[in-house]
Amino acid sequence: MLSKNTQMMQRDLEVIWHPCTQMKDHETLPLVPIKSGKGVYLYDFEGNKYIDAVSSWWVNLFGHANERINNKIKEQLDTLEHVLLAGFTHEPAIELAHQLVNMTPEELRKVFYVDNGSSAVEAALKMSYHYHLNMGSRKPIFLSLSNSYHGETIGALSVGDVALYKETYEPLLIGNMQVPVPKDQTVEATQVALVALEKVLKEKSSEISAFIIEPLIQGAGGMHMYHHDYLVGARRLTKAYNVHLIADEIMTGFGRTGKMFACEHANISPDFMTLSKGLTGGYLALSVVMTSDEIYQAFYCDYNEYKAFLHSHSYTGNPLACAAALATLEIFKDEDVLMENEKKRQYIETKMEPFTALLNVKEVRQQGMVTAIELKGYETSERIGLRIYEYALTQGVLLRPLGHIIYFMPPYIISYEEIDKMIDVAFKGIQKIMKVD
Ligand SMILES: *Cc1c(COP(=O)(O)O)cnc(C)c1O
Repeated sequence: MLSKNTQMMQRDLEVIWHPCTQMKDHETLPLVPIKSGKGVYLYDFEGNKYIDAVSSWWVNLFGHANERINNKIKEQLDTLEHVLLAGFTHEPAIELAHQLVNMTPEELRKVFYVDNGSSAVEAALKMSYHYHLNMGSRKPIFLSLSNSYHGETIGALSVGDVALYKETYEPLLIGNMQVPVPKDQTVEATQVALVALEKVLKEKSSEISAFIIEPLIQGAGGMHMYHHDYLVGARRLTKAYNVHLIADEIMTGFGRTGKMFACEHANISPDFMTLSKGLTGGYLALSVVMTSDEIYQAFYCDYNEYKAFLHSHSYTGNPLACAAALATLEIFKDEDVLMENEKKRQYIETKMEPFTALLNVKEVRQQGMVTAIELKGYETSERIGLRIYEYALTQGVLLRPLGHIIYFMPPYIISYEEIDKMIDVAFKGIQKIMKVD
């Protein structure tokens, strides 16, 4: 008799093509079928439990099967599951948009609903290009940072810079340029990168619609972190050169960096902000593009002037997803989440000290509820992250390293004991793979 996990895995592999996966790996690497979730834990079909230390790809904020979010969705489910958002509207979308306008930087006054992160990026790029066109200039290039990630649809992939995802599709991509991201969190690196940005803007700004960035932390690019002064400089320069600034806060939004939005660390208002992932507490696919009244007004005219933004997705602003988002924001309001997170961040910081003494650790870095350990001395072909992943699973922790970067991005409701366990398992895993000469 095959175990229940194995049965599920076999049935899965008959028909499912998984994301971000070389499917042949599963000849030797077991899939983990998850039966249920509660709090930070995921449970498989044989009763094993795993701490979800990556918040199920960075989306979960307040745990699996969160009672408040569950109840709000159930209530919404019995009221209205979905309605189109063109010509029609509904209360959760209206209420959520107002709350988002009130909590995000000052100049962001309008909310455009989309249904996933990449699509929000696509919509922001199109809006920016279209704005300039409506204002009389054709600017077909987008600028982004080296090592950036903005999603994997063609437009979003174009402005990203992670070779593994991008290289193959190079001939299909839209016009983009990259400027170097600050190489670390120092003020010197910030200055060097701003000089490079200004040089490109000086030469090319007449062709560039927007500069898109992941503020403070480049997620898929290996949790690369830089100083918030870069945001201040980027805002000043883009304004001076009439180029939009798109803050892609899909990963950094909703408290991940220590403030509600990463832009707050620099006190800047971007021209566009994209939000998704944590927006629904990790429950449902929903995203928004937020923008200013000024940009909104450039599309506002008689129909026959053909300036409207004619972009749509079937599940745009889904009521169930909006209800989940409202419940998530309610939790932020009722509990002092950011303050509790700051205590946890400090606790994690002190627990990271022993890592820096390990010979195969290059650097430990942290920003808010993201902590990354960069390893050194390994070839890509050694697939060191995969070995850590496999080890951690046997110990009941779901880590999903990005190559040689091990990171923690747990749900905010993680307890101190669970933090201990998550960190101890990573430490032992890193020790285990250390080469001894
Ligand atoms: C995850 C992510 C995206 C893409 O969102 P999807 O919902 O996965 O399409 C875009 N930008 C950033 C910064 C992200 O982390």
